[in-house]
Amino acid sequence: MSEKRIRGIAASPGIALGPVYRYEPSLIKVEEEGGQDEATELARLEAALAAARQEIRLLAEEAGRAVGPKEAAIFSAHELFLQDPELLQQVQERIRHQQGAASAWQAAFQHYIQQLQTVQNEYLQARVLDLEDVAQRVLRHLTGQAEESLQLSEPVVIVARELTPSAIVRCPRERVLAFCTAQGGPTSHVAILARALGVPAVVGLGDNLEVLRPGQVVIVDGEQGLVIAEPEAEALVHYQQQAQWLQHQARLAAETRQQPACTRDGRCYPVRANIQAPEEVAAARAFGAEGIGLLRTEFLFLDRQQAPSEEEQREIYRALIEAVHPAPVVFRTFDIGGDKPAPYLSLPREANPFLGVRGIRLGLKHRPLLRTQLRALLRAGAGQELRVLFPMVSSYEEVETLRRLVHEVEEELRQQGQALAERVELGIMIEVPAAALLADALAEVVDFFSLGTNDLTQYVLAADRTNEGTAPLADPFHPALLRLLQLAVEAAHRHQRRVEICGELASEPLALPLLLGLGIDELSMAPRAIPRCKQAIRRWTLQEAQQVAQQALRLRTAAEVRSYLHTCSPDETSSLER
Ligand code: PEP
Ligand code: MG
Repeated sequence: MSEKRIRGIAASPGIALGPVYRYEPSLIKVEEEGGQDEATELARLEAALAAARQEIRLLAEEAGRAVGPKEAAIFSAHELFLQDPELLQQVQERIRHQQGAASAWQAAFQHYIQQLQTVQNEYLQARVLDLEDVAQRVLRHLTGQAEESLQLSEPVVIVARELTPSAIVRCPRERVLAFCTAQGGPTSHVAILARALGVPAVVGLGDNLEVLRPGQVVIVDGEQGLVIAEPEAEALVHYQQQAQWLQHQARLAAETRQQPACTRDGRCYPVRANIQAPEEVAAARAFGAEGIGLLRTEFLFLDRQQAPSEEEQREIYRALIEAVHPAPVVFRTFDIGGDKPAPYLSLPREANPFLGVRGIRLGLKHRPLLRTQLRALLRAGAGQELRVLFPMVSSYEEVETLRRLVHEVEEELRQQGQALAERVELGIMIEVPAAALLADALAEVVDFFSLGTNDLTQYVLAADRTNEGTAPLADPFHPALLRLLQLAVEAAHRHQRRVEICGELASEPLALPLLLGLGIDELSMAPRAIPRCKQAIRRWTLQEAQQVAQQALRLRTAAEVRSYLHTCSPDETSSLER
């Protein structure tokens, strides 16, 4: 048997070695059936929906305990599907036409999913798997079948074409070494949940996944997005050492996570957390975050029928400031629009939502909504320093307009006798290439930059971040992206402005010498990544990092940059290819 290497998308870091477990749950399919009388079938439907709701609530609680509130919200969305009036109406209609409850449910749901698949919205399309999960749950109750759970007698690598969020949450964590799936991208629920559980994962393996057979020993490299079946002795030894080294580092990182992150020559970097809900503050603190470097305020604006009021927002922002004090919170104004719809705005469908009216473009178009958020923020910061960050900036005029707006709001609040923030720092996300190229001018009119490498990567490489097909192209180590980062940092520093980074690149230990060497001042990332990042910072001197950055900037391809960085971090991942 010879070694086989298959490539996918690195979705959750870590290395695992173990036998394959093929997870192929059987799907329930019902034949078209006539029902009993209408009242009986409607009652059966009602009972099945109630039972499914109950299960989903339990799952949400389990997910909340195992992975955290943000991930548990996946299941709240599942519960919402069950209440969709249009869907329920269709099922009831079919039952009224003498269909049995199970086949009526199946048909209506299939129709619903088909409709969703025609919508040109990657985010909604990625949720089809969640819908199927919910549909199956109800069907199980209607047909009286028990839920299939994963019975694992030993630690295994779970290999599946796709994995529903509920299957992942129900997995016995101590027996799961890694996840490998044919489908899924970096933003899929498998990726999100695997990262939250701390389980290595490689997704998007496509049909190559079929070479992985039950019981076969595989290495899963969640750092590189690589799966090696039947590894030869050399790979085995290498990965065993690598896994041991990572474990050792993880232990060290955990022990020192509350300590500052300083380079060997004594330059210390604030490492803060990216969060999307106030409930995540506790986890951020537990992982050693020194404040919140990115609060994605979208959570207050999505999945509801009315915009949040000024008072509702003020209370939430104030509570956050107090919870994190004396460390700062960077409040990013809502980045909605495009693929994150807000029902009360009745936004038109866009052919290219990522190139559409999102972030600050939407805020400036729906001015009262942004004004209300700014009023709430300025009031919440009463007596303190406030940091406000604007997403999706692509022009100087936008920044001028935003600054004017903030001043107007400040003036208005003063006139109304409201207490407000003592000092307001205004920052912009550098996530559109135009902003990086214009950084010199923009740095004159803002207090700080935050490098949003997730969007900057997709825009500079013209590779949709939610599209699995373009995932291999959207590599943040691409030299074109690095050059833009360099432009932005140098421009900011020429004007004595601070540069933060809040894109996912900040949480890649491999990228750290590069980022430090480019001159980043502060880092912010998912809470779980903080201990590892702090530990990586401690391995370098600033001078070494600067040399690495200089050299990396001369390279021509992302692969060259990665392989160069691997060779400079001999302890970590030397000689690993991407
Ligand atoms: C980014 O684009 O890098 C970023 C941090 O913002 P978000 O991921 O919320 O778009
Ligand atoms: Mg962004």
